[in-house]
Amino acid sequence: MQSNITIHNLTSNPTAAWREISQTQKVFKLKVKPPSKPVDADKVRFVCMSDTHSLTHNIKFDIPNGDVFIHAGDFTKCGQLEEVQEFNRWLGELPHKYKIVIAGNHELSFDPTFVHIFKKNKEQSSRHKGCILENEIPTLGMEKDDLDEAVRVDNVKQYLTNCIYLEDSAIDIYGIKIYGTPWQPEFCKWAFNVPRGEECLLKWELIPDNVDVLLTHTPPVGHGDLVCSGVRAGCVELLSTVQQRVKPKYHVFGHIHEGYGITSDGKIIYINASTCDINYIPNNLPVVFDIPLKQVK
Ligand code: 5GP
Ligand code: MN
Ligand code: MN
Ligand code: MN
Repeated sequence: MQSNITIHNLTSNPTAAWREISQTQKVFKLKVKPPSKPVDADKVRFVCMSDTHSLTHNIKFDIPNGDVFIHAGDFTKCGQLEEVQEFNRWLGELPHKYKIVIAGNHELSFDPTFVHIFKKNKEQSSRHKGCILENEIPTLGMEKDDLDEAVRVDNVKQYLTNCIYLEDSAIDIYGIKIYGTPWQPEFCKWAFNVPRGEECLLKWELIPDNVDVLLTHTPPVGHGDLVCSGVRAGCVELLSTVQQRVKPKYHVFGHIHEGYGITSDGKIIYINASTCDINYIPNNLPVVFDIPLKQVK
C-alpha cells in the first residue's frame, strides 16, 4: 500500500515526539464500563482482552458475552506449546461467536525470524539471553530452557483451532473489517520486534485503508503507551498511519500493561485492553464496545 506517511524526526524518542505532537491534538479519557445490558439486535458487540500471559486461571471477573472476542497478543509467557494449547482450550470455552487473536512479543514460537536469530548466532543468543534474563522485561519465571523449547515448536499456529489468528491479515465479520498485526517497536529483542521508524512504518503500510477495527500488539504513541517510568513506548508512525490514512473506528492493542484503558482523539477510539497489570496480575476488566451495523459502509 502506498501512502504519504513520513517518518517523524523524533521517531526513536517517542516521549519527545509526543511532547511535540500533543501540542496540536487532544486526548480524551473514557471510562471502562462493563456492559449494562445485552447487545441490541442491530449492533455487533466486541469484547477485548490482551496480555493474559498464561494466567487465565487467575482471572476473577466474568468475561462478558458478545459477538466478537478479541485478544491483542501476549497470551503466553514465552510461546511454549503447552501454553498455546492451554490458551486454545480456554478460548474454546468462551461463548463468543467469533474469536480473533493476534500474537505479541511473548509468543516466541510464532515469529520465524525470532527462531533464526536465537539459534543461528552464538553472539546474539548470549546477548539475547542476558537481555531476557537480566533486565527490562521480566521472564515471568521462564528459564533459558523454556525459551529454547518454545522457539523449537513448529507450525504453532495450527494449535489455535478455536479462533481466527490474524498476522498482517484481515477478516470481515458482519461487514466489519478487522485487521491484525503483531509487530512492535524493538524492545529487548523479543518476538515480532522491528526497529522504530522506517521498518515499523513498512509493517503499518500493509494495513488496508478500509479497516474498521484495527488490532495491533503495540499502542500508537500518545494513547495507552505511558510506561511507569514516565516514558512513552508507543509507535509514532503507527499514530500517523492510524490518524492520517487508516482512520479505523476502533484501535485495540495491549503490550504496555500500565496503559490499560480507553482514550480518544475525538475521532478514533483507542483501547489498551491489557488484562494483566504491571505486576502480571490479570486484574483489568475486558473492554466492551458495540458497533451499529448500519454504521458500516
Ligand atoms: P511485555 O513483556 O508483556 O511485552 O511488557 C510488559 C511491560 O514491559 C510493559 O507493561 C512495560 O512496562 C514494559 N515495556 C514493554 N515494552 C516496552 C518498551 O518498548 N519501552 C519501555 N520503556 N517499556 C516497555
Ligand atoms: Mn504483555
Ligand atoms: Mn478508513
Ligand atoms: Mn508485549
